[in-house]
Amino acid sequence: MTTPLSQDSATALADADLDRDLITVTTRPDTVFVDGQGSWLTDEGGKRYLDLVQGWAVNSLGHSPPLIAEALARQSWRLLNPSPAFHNRPMLDLARRLVSLGCFDRVWFGSSGAEVNEAAVKLARRWGQRMRHGAHEVISFDGAFHGRTLAMMRASGKLGWDSVFAPMPAGFARARFNDISSVERAITPASVAVMIELVQGEAGVNLADPGFVRELRALTTERQLLLIADEVQTGIGRCGRAFAHELFGIEPDLMTLAKGIGGGVPLAALLCKESFNCFAPGDQGGTYGGNPLMASVGLAVVNTVCQDGFLAQVRLRAGHLARGLQALVQDHGLVAERGAGLLRALVLPTDTAPQVVAAAQALSPVGLLINAPRPNVLRFMPALTISDDEIDQGMKLLHEALQVTMT
Ligand SMILES: *Cc1c(COP(=O)(O)O)cnc(C)c1O
Repeated sequence: MTTPLSQDSATALADADLDRDLITVTTRPDTVFVDGQGSWLTDEGGKRYLDLVQGWAVNSLGHSPPLIAEALARQSWRLLNPSPAFHNRPMLDLARRLVSLGCFDRVWFGSSGAEVNEAAVKLARRWGQRMRHGAHEVISFDGAFHGRTLAMMRASGKLGWDSVFAPMPAGFARARFNDISSVERAITPASVAVMIELVQGEAGVNLADPGFVRELRALTTERQLLLIADEVQTGIGRCGRAFAHELFGIEPDLMTLAKGIGGGVPLAALLCKESFNCFAPGDQGGTYGGNPLMASVGLAVVNTVCQDGFLAQVRLRAGHLARGLQALVQDHGLVAERGAGLLRALVLPTDTAPQVVAAAQALSPVGLLINAPRPNVLRFMPALTISDDEIDQGMKLLHEALQVTMT
């Protein structure tokens, strides 16, 4: 004999079971999202949320923009993947467009940030074999995040990550962010490259100091080291310029892109200057690399975002968001607001960021989605198309969440 469940307990039972079939890798809220439009998400129960996470800064044009739906539909009727061993037109067009945007001459496409970062390390090692008598070591920074493959966990400067899946790949060294003498100390005859996030996203939106970046560029040039900019999170308009390195007035030798370039679909790119175009055939590849389905989306995203008018709008919206966050710093006695473009953070006086995130999502009738990369840091990475009105709504919701949490 079975007891009929009330609607509420049926939902609760289903919620408790959401993770039944998934390999456990993280804890997620008991919410299932079914719809996204622009800056808004809707869950299965019909509740709406203003989304300032945007799939971890990937949806540069917001949720489900018609531009991407059209690019996907049009390309999917024509050609999905002729194989990476053949040319396809969207891949060539996107490479041409990326080269036209800045200081790089060559592009290789992948599907994730970790994959193109590994490709950057491989290219640096190839160059070291050819030009620097086998130099191979890559110096990266405390706090950095470069992805979750074994080598990229080793390169990342997250506490404990260099040993959690030991043995880890060798050939990595560590320096301190914004400390040029620590870089000098880390350099050995085996060093081949320095890899840096100019704005450390996962570490809590830590900005590199412009003087440090200029010194790093000069030092790496002088010591014949490649400078690799990991712009997976900061590239394609996120910081108010096509690429964040423009804010620092330097040119890296290699750059990686992912997240925003796909506008939500898996697309990533490694860019290099001509003199580092040194892979031998077979050194690098990947079944999905440069497939026309994703490349056609990337082309639509880059053509939209990387225009002067669009980027100027991003900078205006960033100013509006920064002022809104600064007002919350005053009202709630917080520590600081910081960021570059639409990658911003609030520093709290206590380690309550996860509680603020939960309180913001639980707000009713409309929830707010934000992220806590550190126990005392809230991060904001809205769609580049968010309106001032939506930013104001977000600040109002955040004010409520802070009130609930801090009292
Ligand atoms: C997200 C991120 C990565 C990893 O990208 P995946 O696509 O998750 O592999 C690497 N570097 C930075 C700076 C990132 O923000």
